[in-house]
Amino acid sequence: MNAICSSAKLGKWPENPSSEALGVSAAQSRELLRQATEKAAQEKADVVPPVCPLCHQPLSRLSADHGRTFESKFGPITVRRTRGYCRRCRKWRFAADAVLGLEETAGYSPRVQEMAALLASKMPVGEASAVLEHLTGVKMPRATLDREARRQGERAQRLRKKLDEQACRGLQPAVQQELVLEPYQMIIQMDAWNIRERDDWGQTGKMRQAGQEPERWHWVYTGTCFRLDQRGKTAGGRPMISQRGFVATREGIDGLREQLHAEALRRGLGQAAGALVIADGAVWIWRLADDRFAQARQRLDFYHAVQHLAAVGRAIYGEDKDKLKSWLRPLVKQLKNESSIKVIQQLEDILASLPAGAPAQAVAKEVDYLREHQDRMDYRAGGRRGEPIGSGAIESTCRQTQCRFKRPGQYWSQQGDEALLCLEIFWRNERWHLLFPHNRPIDPSKN
Ligand SMILES: [Zn+2]
Repeated sequence: MNAICSSAKLGKWPENPSSEALGVSAAQSRELLRQATEKAAQEKADVVPPVCPLCHQPLSRLSADHGRTFESKFGPITVRRTRGYCRRCRKWRFAADAVLGLEETAGYSPRVQEMAALLASKMPVGEASAVLEHLTGVKMPRATLDREARRQGERAQRLRKKLDEQACRGLQPAVQQELVLEPYQMIIQMDAWNIRERDDWGQTGKMRQAGQEPERWHWVYTGTCFRLDQRGKTAGGRPMISQRGFVATREGIDGLREQLHAEALRRGLGQAAGALVIADGAVWIWRLADDRFAQARQRLDFYHAVQHLAAVGRAIYGEDKDKLKSWLRPLVKQLKNESSIKVIQQLEDILASLPAGAPAQAVAKEVDYLREHQDRMDYRAGGRRGEPIGSGAIESTCRQTQCRFKRPGQYWSQQGDEALLCLEIFWRNERWHLLFPHNRPIDPSKN
């Protein structure tokens, strides 16, 4: 009906008669696809044996022809199914629903469920609802789409947990490892960024009266891991990584630790000749690394170390940018190409020559910091081995994820966040098909 209406609208532009012709044929072909989908779904339902999908016991008291209509990619389709009673579960069951992927849905086909989940993980739900209708003609109100995406996200969280447990027990890695001929290093990077959530739903008025803002910033913990031999350069010289794993979670440092460990195992940590954790100076990262990646070497992000050097320069030279630059340049070079010990020694000499006061205090603080991380600043050796000296890979990951989750005026709840983050990570890790196994590309019954 809608497609016919829109083709009538197109008819208002007589200078473009081909659009009208196209519109009509699009409606007709959509109807043909809808019929084909309905037929394929019915054929599939007809051959499902009357067995309980949960406990696999034969069903009794069978009765046929229970119709159920749901929204497919090409419009509403109706499938007639057989109902039976499971004596063990003490429940009426439709065995076909499980096979067709219709068990828990609010009346949408698996393909439409998948589209809702994918769109909601890529854009705000209001937009997702409009895009879905524009591209496919499927109408799913914003609230329904939100609920559907969240349900898929929660399903994704359960699957992630199961896959992570399997990875930790050494059962079937999700990523097929090719035969490893050369020893390789596993690179692990971590970082965190803030997400704005609205806590205390329903309490807004009260809180505002009490002078509190009902929004909070929370940490999203993020990690990435990849094999060093899978890092290369594009034709344009830009660094790229052909295969890497991602983790992003609102489940705190503990959540990151377990998820990243499982991801690293799936990506080949167990077969790696060694591992290297690269990050900025956050204390929690090194604790996590000591705890879960105890064998891994640790490296402070080079850019981060340079920022601390620059802080020393600012303490000495104040706002004199030229002096600061000419002082900083050789030190940065030394840090990269020679040794951190040499650089720190020079800073200590400077500190000894400074009179007591604010600049000396600032320099002392930076020297302490650099001393603490001295062993994590092996940039020369790292560079020679072709290892990254910076944590650029995780920083770009954070930026990309933030683009979706940190838009102006967006508020999130912890549950909603984790569900959508989980969907996003399944997509990025190329594990989406594990979440939607019903939707194989050439299966018309799943459209
Ligand atoms: Zn049963």
